[in-house]
Amino acid sequence: MHLRSLGAALTVTGSAHLLRMGGEEVLIDCGLFQGDEALEARNREDFGLGPRDLAAVILTHAHLDHVGRLPLLVRRGYRGPVFCTPPTAVLAETVLLDSARLQVEAYRQDLRRARREGKEPEAREPLYDEDDVHRALALLRPVLRFGETVQVGSLRVTPHRAGHILGSAYLLIEAGGERLIMTGDLGHRAGGLQPDFTPPPPADAVVIETTYAGHVHRPRPATLAEFAGALRQSIRAGGKILIPSFAIERAQVILHTLRELMESGEVPRVPIFLDSPMATRATRAYFQFAEELIPPLRDALQRGEDPFRPSTLHVVLTGDESRRLGRYDGPAIILAGNGMMTGGRIQHHLRHHLWKPATSLVVVSYQSPGSLGGRIVTAAPTVPLLGEDVPVRAHVYTIGGFSAHADRDDLLAFLNPTGTPRVWLVHGEPHVMKAFVPVLAERGLTGTLMPGGEEVDLLTTGERGGYPLELPRGEEGTRKSAGGE
Ligand SMILES: [Zn+2]
Repeated sequence: MHLRSLGAALTVTGSAHLLRMGGEEVLIDCGLFQGDEALEARNREDFGLGPRDLAAVILTHAHLDHVGRLPLLVRRGYRGPVFCTPPTAVLAETVLLDSARLQVEAYRQDLRRARREGKEPEAREPLYDEDDVHRALALLRPVLRFGETVQVGSLRVTPHRAGHILGSAYLLIEAGGERLIMTGDLGHRAGGLQPDFTPPPPADAVVIETTYAGHVHRPRPATLAEFAGALRQSIRAGGKILIPSFAIERAQVILHTLRELMESGEVPRVPIFLDSPMATRATRAYFQFAEELIPPLRDALQRGEDPFRPSTLHVVLTGDESRRLGRYDGPAIILAGNGMMTGGRIQHHLRHHLWKPATSLVVVSYQSPGSLGGRIVTAAPTVPLLGEDVPVRAHVYTIGGFSAHADRDDLLAFLNPTGTPRVWLVHGEPHVMKAFVPVLAERGLTGTLMPGGEEVDLLTTGERGGYPLELPRGEEGTRKSAGGE
């Protein structure tokens, strides 16, 4: 049972883990590095594996930091199967096509800049384009169903419900009497639209995500009360209420919450504009896989209701409609991507409204320190938006409790039934993982930070007391990024 991390070791982004077990080599997730330039540069590095030697790729869920390098792997020669759940296959199409489009757009911009400067050969080519995405999508085998074992070469792979986003799974992988659990991303219990993760079966080792291993989320009712309070104040202020949101899961959680709050009268009804074609497309998958959701939502969808449609919702499709929203008078809620405000339609809404004191910006997602959103929530007086310096005069609310990730207590509850002391930590900030190790030790568990790029025998840690906690030079400052979603 040997693992080499090709991403999400000592960082929260670029999840990709090469597993050598039972004589097979499989890649668990194939995510894109997102964040600052140094992280994104890692997408252009060699994978460090022979794509043709891989028996299979297995995807835990459709977030870009878990699937975003798949078209690149295919471009570099991979032709084998890619196993996933049916919802992950549907969402991955939306996510990867959007990623290709953004990359081609970024390339065109970079090319224009390079031409102006007479440095055309320096323009960075897109990592992949739509054709690569279609070739990757053709390899998807959406045959993983929760609790059902499939044979991948000599490996027995059983996906279980991870409760993180629609279709998300953690994996029990067995060969030769050895049992490994790979978590992918785990959800927060009693969190949002997904049922809680299934308690895991016994295992010999666990590779676990640790995004929020140092944090306990606010209880959901307190978060909802805080969100409702922010909306009431914002509506009284009379300006636009901007809610930047990720397109998958977070947008649906917010739409559903707005519907409940307006129907119960806790928040006055005002027009809501959903200005995110990607969120609109993703929401269709929630209808298609209604049976996956928590019972009240599943039942509502099966009765033909739309729990993601507040009565005042307008769906904005074209770019023209989106720009015309700038002239709309009176209070209204505008939900647009992307979640960290680093691109997408939220940017022109911010340019229009951020300088007005009556505007409210309601932040419901994690903002990485270097992102535009990160600068706004840490009280930057002005921010650059589409070529202008825009003063921040809007009232900024940050609502932290909508996270789709397991918190510290969720992670400990997850580990308990596995009965193994061998816990390998991935997908976290180094200082968070280091602080989690003694918490695990109090419970008799040996927590080990997964090193990047180096193969480890997952069964050794219990005997030798864990990998040394010293980090490789240069990794300490690795920042949390969009991958944290
Ligand atoms: Zn995720």
